[in-house]
Amino acid sequence: MEVPGGHVSCQVLEAQRRGGHEQVVFFSDPSVGLRAIVAIHSTALGPSLGGTRFHPYADEASALTDVLRLSQAMSYKSATAGLDLGGGKAVILGDPPRDKSEALFEAYGAFIERLGGHYITTEDVGTTVADMTVIARSTRWVTGTPVEAGGSGDPSPATAVGVFEAMRAAAERLWGDGDLAGRHVAVSGVGKVGSALVGHLLDAGARVTVADVNEAAVAALGDRVTVVAPEKVHAVECDIFAPCALGGVLNDTTIPDLACAAVVGSANNQLGTPEHGRMLHEAGILYVPDFVANAGGVINIAFEIGRDYRWEDAEVAVRRIHENTTVVLETAEREGIAPADAADRVAEERIAARTRTGVPPDPRPVARGEGAAGRG
Ligand code: NAD
Repeated sequence: MEVPGGHVSCQVLEAQRRGGHEQVVFFSDPSVGLRAIVAIHSTALGPSLGGTRFHPYADEASALTDVLRLSQAMSYKSATAGLDLGGGKAVILGDPPRDKSEALFEAYGAFIERLGGHYITTEDVGTTVADMTVIARSTRWVTGTPVEAGGSGDPSPATAVGVFEAMRAAAERLWGDGDLAGRHVAVSGVGKVGSALVGHLLDAGARVTVADVNEAAVAALGDRVTVVAPEKVHAVECDIFAPCALGGVLNDTTIPDLACAAVVGSANNQLGTPEHGRMLHEAGILYVPDFVANAGGVINIAFEIGRDYRWEDAEVAVRRIHENTTVVLETAEREGIAPADAADRVAEERIAARTRTGVPPDPRPVARGEGAAGRG
């Protein structure tokens, strides 16, 4: 990979200096047009797990910034979810419709194989469950494969169950009762996660308002929901606002408009900056940190690792997001800090405790797909 002026390598060293990432690896195979970066933030709790993002980054530096940030977020998500997994992430630099090929994914899988199980990949923005089956031809360290192949398939239904449990935990803190019957929830984005969440809310007797830029997604929900414009949904007077579309939705412009008691949703990186978590706290709005509420997908995928996947087993762990949320909210109350800061603290303490005990993480607890060809 070309490194103009050593800028990218300085970024890696700076990230490592700040006590962050254990390992950052650059892969390239010009014969198939592959350029990829894998960042392993931490393996203190177990092998690092995180998706492969396929995106047309403007340059290597922005790809690196993204993978460093995302891999750290995975460490925190798995730690607060109580999983024995570390945090990692990968980015492939390219335009998915133009650059995706089986040869590229096979070469990529061979590189992942070389990491010896310290990094396990899965799907992310720009990659699909089907792509994972191609990657699995050359590495064992892939999860989130299709149901037909014995995998857990689309993680979205599990994510929706987890967000629903996080909402019930928030309701308990706010109103002394986790029952959402009669509560009004405004959901922004009714795609794979949002639409499943709406189903759980309606089943629980909640009143639901939705918005989506895709009219078909809204129409599919029928007449059991109220529909508002996407740019207005955050300002709907309601009990809970659920961002289930894009990141960065909680910012200087939107926070003053919020008319809810709590924010609990699936979208990644909901806060514009960490300061916005404190702004919500000061405004008296209970914010369940995104990576606590939306961990259902990664918990579900973890149940595919090293055993036969069964939703019945995974569901028990996904529903524990209720308790995980309570721990974070109680920590925030006890310490007098914003829940976003409390979630970071819970994650950091769990990682540090394991690091202190010196229990070496097993780098190879996964033995799925013994037949995978490991070309690397
Ligand atoms: P999706 O693409 O299926 O759904 C997103 C929906 O948001 C789409 O219907 C889209 O039309 C809509 N949308 C886009 N821009 C919008 C806007 N400005 N206003 C309102 N709606 C808008 O994605 P998904 O899998 O449902 O994921 C939703 C969010 O949850 C994403 O941020 C994703 O990163 C996050 N997340 C998903 C999972 C999972 O298991 N799928 C896990 C963790 C986090």
